[in-house]
Amino acid sequence: MRRGEGDNDSAQATSGGKQKLREPNGAPDQSKPEWDSRPAAAALPSPGLHLVATPIGNLGDISLRALAVLRGADHIFCEDTRVTRKLLVHHGIKARLELYHDHNAEVARPTILAALRRSERVALVSDAGTPLISDPGYKLVRAALAEHLPVTAAPGPSAVLTALILSGLPPNPFLFAGFLPRQQGGRRKVLAGWAPLEATLIFYEAPPRLAATLADMVEILGPRPAAVARELTKLHEEVRRGALPELAEHYRAEGPPRGEIVVVVGPPEPGPALAENEIDDRLREAVAEMGVRDAAAKLAAETGLPRQALYRRALAIRAGD
Ligand code: SAM
Repeated sequence: MRRGEGDNDSAQATSGGKQKLREPNGAPDQSKPEWDSRPAAAALPSPGLHLVATPIGNLGDISLRALAVLRGADHIFCEDTRVTRKLLVHHGIKARLELYHDHNAEVARPTILAALRRSERVALVSDAGTPLISDPGYKLVRAALAEHLPVTAAPGPSAVLTALILSGLPPNPFLFAGFLPRQQGGRRKVLAGWAPLEATLIFYEAPPRLAATLADMVEILGPRPAAVARELTKLHEEVRRGALPELAEHYRAEGPPRGEIVVVVGPPEPGPALAENEIDDRLREAVAEMGVRDAAAKLAAETGLPRQALYRRALAIRAGD
């Protein structure tokens, strides 16, 4: 069986949707979740920093516990008060909103840490999805942990996992790479670094850069299966699946799509065996175009051959061997 083909690789599947929390002999069954059934809506959140996931499109995608935390928090820090206000109003929550974003984080962080030291309840949300995932919050979490201040999460939507599970590509292992560099040189360098990894790769991308990014992926990652997930959970949700060259051609011809985008790329497929002279020819061509390192990564991705060996061969070819 190929990686990721089982319906549940890492744990036994549960049956019939009902969770048995204990085995017949009374011992806790480690393979099943131990639900914490305290009523979320009634309880005040505990003192500490709560990382609260919010919808990535559909306003209904928020957990009961996330709403309870937002209702009971002493402070809600967000990236943009207009965006978070809309969510709170939709769920009937009145609260004063404070800002924590890339441009004020250095100033706001000490204020939040001081509130946590006073055992206040602080919620952190981003505009959409899970805080810290290509969004602010990592430095705050690190600073709170360094002082042994309590940090917890009300988990929920994130575009990474939503795109991954809809892509039809192997769900594990996967690597979430966030946004690629905007400049082509940097982007290709990063892609070449990930190319040999035997994992599904996930990237966030902005619509105006999608066609150029897909074209670079074709060159560096080869004709792998991929998916472009757009407007997830929204009215115009779309997942376009195909080989990277097909997707690159589609978005080159169509122009930038509307909305928000995640690109998911399958792991390298082991290619057919190549004769040595064929490998040399392809390496020579690639070295002339993109240099030794990227050429080795590209061919490794396309053929499944070890990158180090290809790198050494590419060096020899460049030296005129
Ligand atoms: N923290 C968010 C999360 O957990 O997914 C991500 C924030 S990041 C600043 C914004 C990027 O996430 C977008 O540019 C897009 O790549 C991706 N994204 C967010 N919502 C999306 C959606 N509904 N459909 C597709 N991609 C989405």
